[in-house]
Amino acid sequence: MAGVATEEGGADGHTAIMLRALGIPTVLGAMGLTAHMRAGGLAVIDGSAGLVILDPTPATVIQARRGVLAFARRRQRWGRLRRLPAVTLCGTPVELQANLEIPAELPLIAQSGAHGVGLLRSEFLFMNRDELPDEDAQAEIYTTAVEAMAGDPVTIRVLDWGGEKEIEALSSAGAVPDAADSNPALGMRGIRMLLRYPALLETQLAAILRSATAGPVRVMLPMVTNVAEVLQARAIYHRVADRLRSRGMKLPEVLPPLGVMIEVPAAALCADALARVADFFAIGSNDLTMYTLAADRAESSATDIYNSLHPAVLRLVRMTVIEANRAGISVSVCGEMAAHARNIPLLLGLGLRSFSIVATAVPRVKQAVRTANIAECDAFATEIMAQSDPDAVTRLITAHHARL
Ligand code: PEP
Ligand code: MG
Repeated sequence: MAGVATEEGGADGHTAIMLRALGIPTVLGAMGLTAHMRAGGLAVIDGSAGLVILDPTPATVIQARRGVLAFARRRQRWGRLRRLPAVTLCGTPVELQANLEIPAELPLIAQSGAHGVGLLRSEFLFMNRDELPDEDAQAEIYTTAVEAMAGDPVTIRVLDWGGEKEIEALSSAGAVPDAADSNPALGMRGIRMLLRYPALLETQLAAILRSATAGPVRVMLPMVTNVAEVLQARAIYHRVADRLRSRGMKLPEVLPPLGVMIEVPAAALCADALARVADFFAIGSNDLTMYTLAADRAESSATDIYNSLHPAVLRLVRMTVIEANRAGISVSVCGEMAAHARNIPLLLGLGLRSFSIVATAVPRVKQAVRTANIAECDAFATEIMAQSDPDAVTRLITAHHARL
């Protein structure tokens, strides 16, 4: 596929995430596209600039081809970073991991220089199929991912069904009734749905625990809003482990860590309480942005409002990091905001030391880490956090990036 441009969708929606994972140039939410394009016409799709040029002149095509070559050269240069450590100029180590949407990405991740998978989105297991994958089928796939990471950790997120992610198999197999929410993003999604239909969660946890004998694994809960959800999930987790042990299954003495995604404003605001019941935090900035700003991540009419750098989102990120540090648990960002190299100085300045991003972004984010100095990042974050206008934040980040 050469490229994808659509009128609908947003840069942090799942369609965009999947296309980026596959390395396909993509511009979503290009309003007016269909009114102006013609069948058989040529288009230049510049995913980096978010630009679609219809019926380009020969000079524009030549320029675009040059751009493609320059990008390939940059990638080659970045490729050389693969074996270099993700350490700042002042010697602070940073953990760089990859997000995984589909198993086909495993070789890409292994080549990217990422140390493990910080977010395995398990939704792919349930998509495009008529029946639910059973425990054996799931265990096999998780084990393949764990083995492929050769000793680096894999964080497996249990099913995050609902919202914009619609999974046919769940309703057609009768596992859950058809979602009747008139506003699905605010309804039965993620851990809420799993606790309502715990058989799905039990099967998935059993499969994940079985894969934990192949290497380091962590389990992550999506869409957590309340402490009680974590306690209930943990009780199920222990019950499943006991059942596996009684079946004669050998499990690690200490169960893999059970963490939560911070992607609902309530979770960030109650991060102190959640930190007492969770083993780690992962900030899902895509949903955190959507729910904080009441702007759909996949809806083109709200793209000018949807902005992970909005001061409200940044304050929730900072709050989450402070509480994680206070409780002594690890915290990472696995949303798209960490995949933009220009955001790295700010995120480091907010105290983050762990990022999980699309494999193709690992080299340029590593480069951003290797050219950062923590004292400067701290000062920069202080300047940013004093802003109340999202555009001012963007301007400061653009100017800071241009100086590097
Ligand atoms: C997020 O919300 O930022 C996230 C990483 O989860 P997903 O994109 O799968 O909803
Ligand atoms: Mg999310």
